[in-house]
Parts: sequence; structure tokens; C-alpha cells
Amino acid sequence: MTGDLTARDAIPLLTLKGVGRTYNVGDSETRVLRDVDLEIHEGDFLAILGPSGSGKSTLLNLLALLDRPTVGKYHVNGDDVTGLGERQRDALRSDMFGFVFQASHVMTEESSARNVALGLRIQGLGHREREKRIRPALERVGLIHRTDAPGKNLSGGERQRLALARALATNPKVLFADEPTGNLDVANTKRVIDELRSLNAQGMTVVVITHDPAVAAAARSQVTIVDGVLVQSTEKRASSSWNSHAIKPDVADPTASVPSGRKPGHWQGVVDDVYDALTALTSRTGRTILLIIAFMLGSGGLVLSVGLSQTASAQVSERLARAALDELQVSLSASGSQAYDSSGTTPSDQRNRIEGLDGVVDVGLRYDMASKDLKPSRFQPGLAVHEPTFAGSLLAVDSHYLELNDVVVEPASALSLLDESFGKPVALVGRETAVRWGISAAGPDQKIWVAGQPVPVVGVIESPGRNQLLSDSIVMGIGDFRQPVLTDPMFIVRTVPGFPAPLSEAVPLALDAAHPEYFKVSTVADLRSLRRGVNTDLSVFIGVLSWVLLALACLSSATSMYLTVQTRRSEIALRRAIGTSRASIRRMFVFEGLLVGTGGGLAGGAAGMAALLVFCLQQGWTPVLGLEAVAMGVLAGAVTGVLAAMYPAISASRADPAQAIRG
Ligand code: ADP
Repeated sequence: MTGDLTARDAIPLLTLKGVGRTYNVGDSETRVLRDVDLEIHEGDFLAILGPSGSGKSTLLNLLALLDRPTVGKYHVNGDDVTGLGERQRDALRSDMFGFVFQASHVMTEESSARNVALGLRIQGLGHREREKRIRPALERVGLIHRTDAPGKNLSGGERQRLALARALATNPKVLFADEPTGNLDVANTKRVIDELRSLNAQGMTVVVITHDPAVAAAARSQVTIVDGVLVQSTEKRASSSWNSHAIKPDVADPTASVPSGRKPGHWQGVVDDVYDALTALTSRTGRTILLIIAFMLGSGGLVLSVGLSQTASAQVSERLARAALDELQVSLSASGSQAYDSSGTTPSDQRNRIEGLDGVVDVGLRYDMASKDLKPSRFQPGLAVHEPTFAGSLLAVDSHYLELNDVVVEPASALSLLDESFGKPVALVGRETAVRWGISAAGPDQKIWVAGQPVPVVGVIESPGRNQLLSDSIVMGIGDFRQPVLTDPMFIVRTVPGFPAPLSEAVPLALDAAHPEYFKVSTVADLRSLRRGVNTDLSVFIGVLSWVLLALACLSSATSMYLTVQTRRSEIALRRAIGTSRASIRRMFVFEGLLVGTGGGLAGGAAGMAALLVFCLQQGWTPVLGLEAVAMGVLAGAVTGVLAAMYPAISASRADPAQAIRG
């Protein structure tokens, strides 16, 4: 009796004084517990009995710091914990209490060992210490042969024993059990009762809610609640079987140093959160792959669009730099335009004069024609075929112009037809125009319409050489048109490299020594300012599209994660109940978003580069892509991944453990 007296005289482990709990549902108030006074001493085995709805779970939740009393005080080891903050309550639960609920709340995708480790992780124990505790706990409940089996493969009885192992591995001071045998058959019920008894015999305090007379009989003392009031308390002191010193919990005096938040092993905690996120992703592979693809399309598109504009810009720079060395363009100035009409000098005279100058290699002649007047079309105008207006270039040129631009025409013989079409108009079309208009190759049966006349297509410009505009163009011979259609000729002068500058002064004088001002000469160097404006329509389009795709990826990922939060409610509830902080729950989901987003971003970076390579191979361009563009793609994926996880993470962390455990 002396030992008992010592224990009884000591400060009770748990003390409720005048505790009440009221729920507000709509406008009405329900008092679920009233004026409860209760003392639980270290080493007690208390059964809480009472009809359904009488307030047993509410009482247990208050004792276990899963809920707060509306009135009254709660002391743990003599310290008032009624007003403790959320983090301290989380830490206290994790350090002092173990839980077994009617539903086992095991993590179905994780092994038994990982399930048992959960509480140990929350306590901040390192990997080695966890390993030391997992096996004995599983052995104790007879599940050692199921160590690696995922929770979903265990039977109901096994799951409940696993829940018990999870609780006892943390060596709690108090084990709370809410109808632990409610779903079990006779054999498993007996096993759980024996285990509770034996834990209590070793000094663990056990508080159990039960309807089961066998469980109630195992307890040392019982309280009964009716309508929220403690009506009866019986005590049987079978002292023979207990010895409060048999087990020494790790936590010596839990309230003496009420934990203040995260414990040591912070990095271990972060590693665990990442591991949890990875498990969540790998256990739902189909969903994960779809999400990664969504992020991949978005960030891959970004990388591709940046790559395209960088490549196109480099392409133009290179071409301009090359052209600046050996090209001049000569046209009539405004005053020259009028004078030219009356001078009687033909363009071919002028061409010969330029060609005669030193340093000139070749001279090509080009007229830009107005599409809006000549209305080129694929089909005969007036037929009821609706065609979009031709948006490419409509030119009249001589064969020199095409040659000095290094244009490749198929068939090559079409070039000479341009100069000598025997009075009949003929046309070459650019490859892009040909594709758009469904002209597979030049031939006698292929014709287009210009100025209301049929024009045979004698060749296709397969490669536009130095002038990209020729890809989408209709090119006709100069002889096919007369004034006034052809006004303002432009001479393209190919020079020996380095000659554009001196020739730019010599050409106007050679053309008209009296009126050099009639002519305007520009070197390509003058056009360099154009470089700034280079931004292909394609890359702008892909850029916009990829932001839209990223937004969609973000949205679908958020939705999917939110749905996952719903399906993992039970697991999240358990994590919260056994002491996982809200921050840790948030981290778990944010890491999940980060991993999916970064994975998608990396895949997108690779896919974007591959797409750029294929595109450039097709165009014959040299791909240019700064590494920072790839990094941006990955970053965009990661950031949108995290953004997508925000709402689900917050919503998961908000779950109130007491409510969530009820389901
Ligand atoms: P028991 O465990 O004895 O079956 P509970 O403690 O679960 O009883 O519930 C006691 C009463 O409190 C019940 O009438 C229940 O409906 C009510 N109750 C429990 N939780 C809430 C809540 N969050 N909001 C409103 N009423 C609640």
C-alpha cells in the first residue's frame, strides 16, 4: 500500500477541473460536457464508459490535447496547459501521448515499418534511433513478419495492432485509446486487451474509451459519463500487477520544459517531408506522370520560344553581318522617281552602268509589287472560293537577283524562264507559299492567278538563300509587266567584300553624274537597327501558349492535389493528432508541388531543346539557346509547382485534429 500511497499523494499526471465543452451549431449551443473534475495518476488504467453520444470522445480529446475546453482548467503534471499555443500542444502530444483510434488510420501506401516510424519522426529521432525502436514494437504486436508489407495489404486486426505498435514505439507516458477494439473479432480483441494490460503493467498510463465489457474489465478504474456529466467512478486497485518504475519513458517531466516547437534534427525533419512527398508521388504514378507532362509542356514551350527567338535573332545578325560586307541596295530617291519617268533611261541601262564599276560582282533588279492591286490568288477570282488575302511578298525580279541571293529553285531551269518567258507571265513561288496553296511541285498543270490572269508556276523556291522573305513569296519575271505596275526599281549590288562603302558614293555618280541625288544607296550596315525588332511571330506565339499551359498545369495540379488532400484526410488527421505541426503538413504538400514542378521543368527544358534542334535542322539554322533560358524553364516549372501546392497545403494543414479523427 505504501507504494500506492506514494503514487496517489504525488501530483496527478492529468487533472481536469470544472471542465465544460460547448459546441455552437448554427445559432444553438450544445453543452456536451459539464463540470467535469477528473484526476488521472501515473500508472492508471482508466476506462471511460457511457452510452453513445454521452461525451466520451469529447472528454478523451480534451485529455489528449486534441481539443480545448470551453470552461475549466486542464493541468498536466501540475502545470496549466489550458492556454498553450498550437505548436506547444503539438509537441506535447508528440512527446507524451500515444494514440489508438477505432479506425486504425494507417498509411496505406507505406510499409508497416514506415507506419511505426511516423511517431518517432515527429519526435525528431534520427534514423538509427528509429530503426532500433521499430522492430521491437512490431515484434511486440506480432507483426514482425509484416515489416515491409504496405498498410493496404494488412487485415483489419493487423492494422489495429500496427496502430498500437506505432503508438508504443514512441514510448508515451499516456496511451489514449478510443474504442480500440470496436472493429475487431474476438481473437484480435483479446490480443489488444492483453497488450494494453501489459503496457500498463510496465507503468504506462492507459486511458481507454470502450463499450466492450472485456476491455472495461481489464481497466483498474472506470468512469461513466451520461449526458456530458461524470456520474460514477469506480476504482479497483489490483496493485499486484503494476510497478510504476518498470518502464522509464524518455520524457522525464514533460511540462517542466514544455517543448517550444520544432525539435533537434531539423534537417532530418525536412528530409522526412521530402520523402513523404516522394512517396505520395510514386504511389500515384499515373497522376504524377500526367502532372509532370502538364508542367513539361508549359516550361518546354517557354524554353523553345526563347530558343527560337535567340536563334532567329542570331540568324539575322549573321546574315546582316555577312551582307554588310558585300551588298548595296540602290533605289530612286523621291526627286529621282519623278525625273526617272521622263529620262528615258531604262533599268537595264542603269544596271549596265553599275556593273561596269570596279568591285561590283553582280547586279540584280527587283520591283516590289502591290498585292492589294494585283490580288494574287490560288484560284480564279470570281469563283465562289473564299481565300485569305495573300500576305507574302509579290516581286518582279531578274534571274541575277535570285542568283546573287544564293536562292535554290526547283527545277533550276526555271531561272532562265524568268528572263525569257516569251511574253507570257510565269511565276516562281516560295516553299511556304507552295505548301499553303497545295502546290507540291512546279508543272504545266500548276497555275496561280495574278491581276486576274492565270500564271503558270514554273518553279518552287526551295531555299530562300540570303533573303528569308522569299520563302513566302510570288516571284515573276520583269518582262511580264509594264508600267505603271513596275515603279521604283531596286538594284541589289553584290560587291567584292569590303567594297560597299566606296561604291555607295560611286554608284549614284555613275548613274547620273549631274544628279547623284536622284539615287538612294543603302548598305546593309544601315539596316542593322532592324535587328532589335527581330522576334519571330512563332516564338511569341509559343511563348504566350506556354504561359497559358503553365497556368493550366498549375490549375490541374492544384485540383489534383486538393483531391488528394481529401482522400488522405484520415492520414493527415492522424499525423496532426500524434503531433505533426501544421507547418510540417504544409511542407509535405509544397515539396510535392516543388518536385512535380521541377520534374516537369527539367523534362520541359530537355524537350524544349530537342524541339529547337529539330526545328533548326529543318530550317538549316544554327540553334542558339542560352543556358539561362533552360534554367528559366526549370525555375518556371518549380515556381508554378509550388504555387499549385499552396492552396491544398494550407487546406490540409487547417484540419482540426479532433474533428478530422472523427472522420
Ligand atoms: P461519445 O463518444 O460518447 O459517443 P461524443 O463525445 O462523440 O460522444 O459526442 C457527444 C455529443 O457531442 C454528441 O451529441 C455529438 O453529436 C456532439 N458533438 C461532438 N462533436 C461535435 C462538434 N464538433 N460539433 C457539434 N456537436 C458535436
